[in-house]
Order: sequence, then C-alpha cells, then structure tokens
Amino acid sequence: MPPRLSLHTITTKPWSPHQCIDHYSKAGISGITFWREDFESTSPKDLGQAARDAGLEVTSLACGGNFPAPTEAERDKIIDENFHAIDQAAECGAPTLVLVCGSRTDQSLAMNRGQIIDGIAECLDHAASMGVILAIEPLHPIYADTRSAVNTMRYANHICEVLGHHESVGIACDVHHTWWDPDLLKEIETAIRAGDFASFHISDWKSPTTDRLHDRGLPGEGCIPIKEISDTISASGFKGFTEIEVFSEHHWARPQEEVLQEIITNCAKIYGS
Ligand code: ZN
Repeated sequence: MPPRLSLHTITTKPWSPHQCIDHYSKAGISGITFWREDFESTSPKDLGQAARDAGLEVTSLACGGNFPAPTEAERDKIIDENFHAIDQAAECGAPTLVLVCGSRTDQSLAMNRGQIIDGIAECLDHAASMGVILAIEPLHPIYADTRSAVNTMRYANHICEVLGHHESVGIACDVHHTWWDPDLLKEIETAIRAGDFASFHISDWKSPTTDRLHDRGLPGEGCIPIKEISDTISASGFKGFTEIEVFSEHHWARPQEEVLQEIITNCAKIYGS
C-alpha cells in the first residue's frame, strides 16, 4: 500500500459522504477527498469534522475552475463561484482545491488558456487568505474541447511559473490524464523541485476504454505504469497522499464494499503490502 492512501468520494459514488467516511475509516484508509456535491446534505464544516472524528485527513476538495467565458460579466461570476469553492475547501479543512480549468469551442485554445491564467491569478489572494492551494489538474487532451485547455504537466508547470510560483498555486497530477506523456516523469520532477506538486491522483486506463468519462479502471486494471510514476514522485521528495479517483459506471453498479476491498488488494499488489 502507498504510505498515505486517500479516496475521492466519487470513487464510491453510490455511498453517501457519511457512508464513505465510515467505510474508508474502517478499511484503514487515511484520507478522504470530498466533491462539492457532498455538501448538498451536510455543511463542509460538519463533514470535515466527521471525517477527522473518524480518523481521516481531508486531503482535497474537487473541483473549482472552469474559467473561460466570452464576457467579462460571466468571468466575474465564475470568479465568485471559485471564491465560494475556496471557502468550502477551507471550511471542510481541505488544504487544496482541485481545478478543472475549463475550455470552450467558441473561442480559441489560446484565448481559453489566457483566461485560465487570468482567472487563477484573480483567485490567488483569496486562496492565500483562506490557506488553500489551487491545484491545477492537467486533463487528457481528449478533454481539450470543453473540460480543460490545460493538458500536460509541462503546461501546468508553465502556469505556476507565470504566476511566480505563488504559495497558493500548485498542480494535481492525475495519472489517467498524463500517463501517455513522454515528458511526464521529467515534468513531475520539475514540479516537485519548484514546490508546486500539490496532489497525486491514481486510477487506471482500460484498453479498450468504452466511455471517455465514466470507464476508468481501478488501479491495477489497466496499462498505466502506476508504480513507476509513484516511485519518481516519492524519490523526488513528495510526501503527500496517493488519492484514488475512479469514475466508472461499471464499478458504481457493483457492491461498493467489494470495490473498496479490490482497491486495497490491488494497491497492495502494486506497491507491496
Ligand atoms: Zn484527478
């Protein structure tokens, strides 16, 4: 097992947030990443406290971002929404807010990218005042049309550099989005050296993949060299959590206790128990 394992609640989506807390804690998991939907029935403050009471560390909150928009008024509204997400991260005790940065097909990629950098820059002071790191998650290029115009670790590193390696900007590296990149290990080392590596997400790439969004594999079910990437990350000095983040209609349809057990068994195989 990785030394510090965390689960994104979306991985076991059929469970309520309180069921996630209960089951993760009993299974010996050390951390939990909430999704903002989790706050529909319980406040961020109460849910964060419930997690800590059960012995779990709140590792992150997903997601903020979605910065590109054609008018200034719309972009201002998006900034307000991100301020709200930053507040929720602070209230539940999450040190990072994961950013899915956004993209639109009715404007150029260059324009999307400019608005992403401007949007993050506008949020930095508020994030710093709340003690939250905005973790830019590069998404696989198949999502460059509508989900994110940040598609490589290299470009995420570039944004951190443009923003002066601000204390409240960082990167969430997700193997599902980045495993194919020949520069991945080098760019991970660069991010860690610069102090910008904030979060590490794992799942697996099934081949064939039947759904662009909801057919991720559990770690060990696909072709991503998870151990090699993890080894580079620990050898470079990152001491944070390894977060399991799986969106899968297939696994959501199964008994979630079995899925959780399979994650633990697979991680023990990948990392050695
Ligand atoms: Zn992720």
